[in-house]
Amino acid sequence: QVLQTENRETPWYQNIKDFLQTRTLPPEMSRKEQRVLRHMPSRYFILADILYRRGFSTEYARCLDANEALEVIQEAHEGICGGHVGYQTLVKQIVRVGYCWPTMQRDCHQFVKKCIKCQLHAPSIHAPAAYLHSVSSPWPFSMWAFDVVGPINPPASNGHMYFLAATDYFTKWVEAITLKTVEGQHVVSFIHKNLLCRFGIPHDIVSDSGTHFKNEKVRNLCHKHNIQHHFSAPYYPQGNGQAEATNKILIRVLERTVETGRDWYEKMHNALWAY
Ligand SMILES: [Zn+2]
Repeated sequence: QVLQTENRETPWYQNIKDFLQTRTLPPEMSRKEQRVLRHMPSRYFILADILYRRGFSTEYARCLDANEALEVIQEAHEGICGGHVGYQTLVKQIVRVGYCWPTMQRDCHQFVKKCIKCQLHAPSIHAPAAYLHSVSSPWPFSMWAFDVVGPINPPASNGHMYFLAATDYFTKWVEAITLKTVEGQHVVSFIHKNLLCRFGIPHDIVSDSGTHFKNEKVRNLCHKHNIQHHFSAPYYPQGNGQAEATNKILIRVLERTVETGRDWYEKMHNALWAY
């Protein structure tokens, strides 16, 4: 019943995304709507087929369709790190983690109102907000979040289209390389060269379950060094939130450099330092 107004086939941002990709306006659209749509490229950005909206600050928020939004609300409110917080806190948490959709306020309100546990235990259960990124590591460089960003268009002059990035949970230090393609052996060599040789053997690593992360080669490496590999589900704020945050920083850099040419490959290193 939550998010009922949206047609489940077509997400709310379809027109925006189409326009960004094709720069053509739907003919059946009114002039007023067309005028609004023409301004969208300054407010939205597509990376790896995912739409992000520029926030009031420089942060980017990932646009979610109805199903994704519901997953995030559920996880944030009643998931492992969810504290059954009130809806205003819930909205703030979701914004802070970097997700957006137009009916967020209303959907969160509806969801909390219908939550059985909240009804049974309100108001005592509305404890202070538990910070969503409650994943914490006990010491520096013991736990890294991995992510792949891309494909990036246009590719760099050397043909590289992807970032492979790892962020340390404790220090927020980011290690990243650029690649033409991302496969198991690239991840293994990245872990070896950029993490093991420089920061020592981590205790845990976190990634999504893409085949470049979930494969024999990576499994063997982890087994050999006794590294725990955790797989996070996409969209779950508390899971791989760190890597998502890193992505947004990379996007910001990319957006600036893509406009001025194809030299983002060289600029990446500066960007990581600035961050
Ligand atoms: Zn609840």
